[in-house]
Amino acid sequence: MKTLNLIIGLLFANLLTAQTYNVYHQGIVDNATLANITTNLNEFVAFGEKNAFKTTAKYNNLVDAKNWLKAKYQTFGYTDIVEDNFTENGRTVTNIVVTKIGEVYPNEFIIIDGHYDTLNGVGANDNGSGTTLLLEIARVMANVPTAYSIKFINFSVEEQGLLGSDYYANNTGAGLDIRYVFNIDEVGGVAGMTNNIIVCERDEGSPTVNNAASAVLTNELATSIELYSSLSTEISNAYASDYMPFEDNGEIITGLYEKNETAHAHSSTDIIANMDIPYVFEVTKGALGALLHFADADVVLSTENSAVTMNTIKIFPNPVSDNVFVKFDRENISEVKIKMINVLGKEVYYKIIQSPKHVEKLNIDKLTSGVYFMSIQRGTVVTTQKIVIK
Ligand SMILES: [Zn+2]
Repeated sequence: MKTLNLIIGLLFANLLTAQTYNVYHQGIVDNATLANITTNLNEFVAFGEKNAFKTTAKYNNLVDAKNWLKAKYQTFGYTDIVEDNFTENGRTVTNIVVTKIGEVYPNEFIIIDGHYDTLNGVGANDNGSGTTLLLEIARVMANVPTAYSIKFINFSVEEQGLLGSDYYANNTGAGLDIRYVFNIDEVGGVAGMTNNIIVCERDEGSPTVNNAASAVLTNELATSIELYSSLSTEISNAYASDYMPFEDNGEIITGLYEKNETAHAHSSTDIIANMDIPYVFEVTKGALGALLHFADADVVLSTENSAVTMNTIKIFPNPVSDNVFVKFDRENISEVKIKMINVLGKEVYYKIIQSPKHVEKLNIDKLTSGVYFMSIQRGTVVTTQKIVIK
């Protein structure tokens, strides 16, 4: 949507933030791949121009892209995939809304969004870049537990005046308890240039009541980008993209936009050859780190402190290589269930031990190096501890 580079008030981030590097988040970020982004971007441009306000063929391309998105989310394992349909230009247009429920605050939502319609061309950068970023983040996070719920939304008809996001914000999504809105639009960079800065956008418009919170959120976004990608950041103002209808409703917004601005947006030359896919990959890693922070992916760690039994079960050594030992406080326990879960939330080890010995030895040499969570269940009490396999 954006055609002007109105970056004002440039300010390097990292001045006001508190969050620190999180090895668990890094383990999740490491699962994003350049290959997936490249594949998805090629598939996205192959649909051609995706536009409900042009010929039937271009409208059909938009419908095909919508069905492609749905199929992707299904492949990733999502089941709550909703077509948010409305009518523009006499045609049915669709936002795709994918919901992932949080473990602690299921009714509070982080929205991460990007539009998938294009104008005057295939839209490799605007907004194939944001579309593929969203897909890769959704893939990686499919089984990662978070405290807050997340909605991944691919908006339609953005290029005709933010019509999809406006419809959602004021109809389907009205009344939703939205914690933050995180918008991704045109993060593809420029081929042949050094693309090593991403612009983090904060709310500087009216209403102003939500501006301070947006500034804090945007600083946290910038910090996450610098922690989990190779990019530097600049802070600028949010404008002319799908966060604005939410901003108008008083929601707290932030967003990402390329620093080197393409000259090809909204033209037939907005093609992959004119952008920088490795830049999109770096932006994806940073955005993923930010989303893990916003949605509080550390929810799985919280049981470490809450389990009253933690001081009575010892798991050692930690870090561990092949054998881990679990020492119980007493011997007459009837049964324990031991699980290990990797950073993607996948169960990789499961064992039931009847009448465990005072110290049980578990062989875990088949597990690869990394961060895991071991949960030990005795009756209804579950103790979870993070362990690192060397
Ligand atoms: Zn756009």
